[in-house]
Amino acid sequence: MSTTIQTSRYPDVRNYIGGAFVDAVDRQYLDVTNPTDGSVISRVPLCGAREVDAAVDAARKAFPAWSGMPIKERTQVFYRYKALLEQNIDELAALVSEENGKIRGEAEAEVLKSAELCEFACSLPQIVAGEVLEVSRGVECRVERYPVGIVASIAPFNFPNMVPNWTIPNALALGNCMILKPSEQVPLSAAKIAELLKEAGLPDGVLNIVHGGIDTVEAICDNPFIDAVSFVGSTHVAKIVYRRATSNLKRALALGGAKNHLIVMPDAEPDMTSSNVVASMSGCAGQRCMAASVLMAVGSTDHIIERMSGILRSMVPGVHLGPVISKAAKERIERYITEAEEGGAKVLVDGRGYTVAGKENGFYVGPTLIDYVTPDMRIAQEEIFGPVMTIIRAKDVDEALAVQHRSPYGNAASVFTESGGVARYVMEKASAGMVGVNVGVPVPREPFGFGGWNESKFGTGDITGRGSIEFWTKAKKMTTKWNKEAGVNWMS
Ligand code: NAD
Repeated sequence: MSTTIQTSRYPDVRNYIGGAFVDAVDRQYLDVTNPTDGSVISRVPLCGAREVDAAVDAARKAFPAWSGMPIKERTQVFYRYKALLEQNIDELAALVSEENGKIRGEAEAEVLKSAELCEFACSLPQIVAGEVLEVSRGVECRVERYPVGIVASIAPFNFPNMVPNWTIPNALALGNCMILKPSEQVPLSAAKIAELLKEAGLPDGVLNIVHGGIDTVEAICDNPFIDAVSFVGSTHVAKIVYRRATSNLKRALALGGAKNHLIVMPDAEPDMTSSNVVASMSGCAGQRCMAASVLMAVGSTDHIIERMSGILRSMVPGVHLGPVISKAAKERIERYITEAEEGGAKVLVDGRGYTVAGKENGFYVGPTLIDYVTPDMRIAQEEIFGPVMTIIRAKDVDEALAVQHRSPYGNAASVFTESGGVARYVMEKASAGMVGVNVGVPVPREPFGFGGWNESKFGTGDITGRGSIEFWTKAKKMTTKWNKEAGVNWMS
């Protein structure tokens, strides 16, 4: 917690309420740190009910006009916003790299994904056109979708630009007004998102941003005028938010953490498999909820593991790999590695104690590969959220699947094989919401929805794609009869 004179590169972070950036008054501030070198780049206010109430007031004022606008008009904002994201990609990606630490290519990919999310929002008028049927003679039934109302979106640190854009375009295009609560670890990108949306023509009050941590989230869950809460973050907090929001009778969708298993069969194509698995475990320094975490090595797969070790050894942190988010995260990840080693696992590639020349205060963990991990070890069960891959040996695909089933999570699972039968078997049997074949990061792109199973997601529906429409709207069923000659029976 900082009370010192500000030496940051950016001014203090401000809330965005009713279309204007406003300072938080009488609040504690938290330092915002650049993970590549540990420098303080800004400060973020830790807001509470007062600021959430103000944001909700602004959203309620904006709601009647915004929700009353035809969806084809609302989506025009997102055509322009998509173009602005692309035009401003350099600035947006630089901001993501600065506050999150991602290497430049990863940050650019994140912004491009945000633009793709807008494409789907722009297609919503075609998708939600509704249904109509003559259900009895002369009686017509139709379904129309209405916005839920005032909604909240609570975001994690690992995608400062993309995760807010998982929710903003769809929720707003469908007529809702929103309170966004970015992660207090990466609060800077949100302001730029708000600026670009305003430039794209979004009316004031439709999107509002309140910064902070636990108190802010609790105020959101307790505010009587917020109708729906979406959350993306760890499972521990997802449970807290889901319980609190639903106990206040709100609609909630809470995406949690993950422990993703990749099953590598002996017949897997060695080069493709090793490069895909490495990219999955090390991309974004392993800080993706879809990152490969456990490699289930079935039978003789040493030739693939050797290739992976070779690629990982050639990777240069600071060039091919960004830092993890904080000093605490670095220490936590290194503790997991040490504990596994002490428990009898073999560290094939060791990323502990990594420093990058000229950035000695950065929070770097080198890519790490650990073999002969057993399913009962903590490193095999808990989410690590760093560039660490553990290898568990299995004699056959059923033994590999049994380990996957023991995990409380269920975000992603993949199999690497040349056999269609094995591929289909794993896709059916894996207990995960997003499964892949020969794909290291089986993210379903739009129109398919993003969402896991088990303790990786609480609530129904998905956070993106078609699966999100049900969450962001209320369906109204309308039954009409204009044909007086149609007669009357108990169904009409
Ligand atoms: P986090 O759960 O610590 O924080 C997420 C949000 O919750 C933040 O905005 C934070 O301010 C707030 N928060 C933190 N503690 C809280 C509490 N006790 N009560 C109320 N609110 C609280 O997550 P993180 O560390 O920012 O992000 C990493 C986690 O997010 C990982 O577990 C990762 O797997 C998960 N994640 C999941 C998905 C998915 O789609 N399932 C996507 C991205 C990230």
